[in-house]
Amino acid sequence: MNEINLLAALEKFEQQLQPSLLTRVCDPFLQQRKIELWIKRDDLLHPIISGNKWRKLKFVLQHTLLNEKNSIVTMGGQFSNHLHALAYIGKVLDISTSAFVRGERPESLSPTLKDCHEWGMQLKFIARSAYRELRDVRKLPMQQINEYWLPEGGAVKYALQGVAKIIEEIDISYDVLCVPCGTATTLAGLVATAPDQKIVVGFAALKGRGFLEQNVDQLLAGNIMSNCSWVINHDYYFGGFAKTRPELINFISFFQQQTGIELEPVYTGKMLYGIYDLVKQGFFKTGQRIIAIHTGGLQGNRGFVNG
Ligand SMILES: *Cc1c(COP(=O)(O)O)cnc(C)c1O
Repeated sequence: MNEINLLAALEKFEQQLQPSLLTRVCDPFLQQRKIELWIKRDDLLHPIISGNKWRKLKFVLQHTLLNEKNSIVTMGGQFSNHLHALAYIGKVLDISTSAFVRGERPESLSPTLKDCHEWGMQLKFIARSAYRELRDVRKLPMQQINEYWLPEGGAVKYALQGVAKIIEEIDISYDVLCVPCGTATTLAGLVATAPDQKIVVGFAALKGRGFLEQNVDQLLAGNIMSNCSWVINHDYYFGGFAKTRPELINFISFFQQQTGIELEPVYTGKMLYGIYDLVKQGFFKTGQRIIAIHTGGLQGNRGFVNG
C-alpha cells in the first residue's frame, strides 16, 4: 500500500471504533458525599486497541506514514498495552513493528507478547540496564531511514493531538478529570486541551514522583494553550508498577459488582481506588462532577489470571 491508501486505512479504522460512552456511577457512598462520578469509557473503543493506546497512536501513525516511514521501533515490558496496541495496528496497516522488551526472554511468552508475536512484531529481549539506557535519546541504536523511533509508552507530542479527542467528545459539564499515569502522556494531552477552569488529577501507577511531572512539563513545553491546573497523586501506586495488594483486588471486584464496569489492577483499578479514597478524605468539593477516563487495558488482565 502507498501512503495515501495507508492514511485512508487509518481513517477507516477510526470510523469503525465503538463510541466511548459516558457512564454515571450510581453509588450511595458517592451520593452521600454529594460527588458525581462519571466514567469516560475509552475501554469500549475497540476490543483489542483499547483506550488511550489508540488515542496516543493515531497521530504517531499518521506522522510516520506522512514521512514515508514504514516501520516503527519501540520499547516496553512483557505485559505492555502499548506494545500490544502497536503490534495490532501495525498488522492492520501493514507497517512493520519491532520492540525492545525489558528483561530476558521468558520460557513462555506472556499472553500479551504472544499476541504481539503473532501479529508480526519483532521482539528483541534486552537486559534491564540496557533497556533503561534506551530512555536516553542519545543512546538509541541507529535507526534505518525507513524506521520511526517511538519512545516508551508512546510519549511524544503527536500523542497529545489524539488525546484531545477525549475532551472534544465530552458533552456534559464537569469540574475534574481523573486519569491513570504510566508516562503521563495521556494526562499531558488532557491538560493541553481541557478548558482553563478544569482540574486534571493524575494517579501514578508506579513510583514516579518527579519523573512523571517532568514528562508532562516536557510534553507541554511551548504549548501556550494549556492553562488548566493539574496535579499527579502519588499515594495509590501500591508498591510499584503492576504490583497489587488484596485491598486493591477487593476494591476492583466491589466496583465491578456495583457498576458492571471491569477494571484492571495496573492502571484503572489504582485510579478508582484513589478517587474513592480521596472522596472519603474530602479532597473533592461538595457538588463537584468528576469524569474519570477509563483508559482500557483490560487485555492485560490475562497476564494476572495466567500468572
Ligand atoms: C498505558 C496505559 C496508561 C498510561 O498512559 P500514559 O499516557 O503512559 O500515562 C493508563 N491506562 C492504561 C489502561 C494503559 O494501558
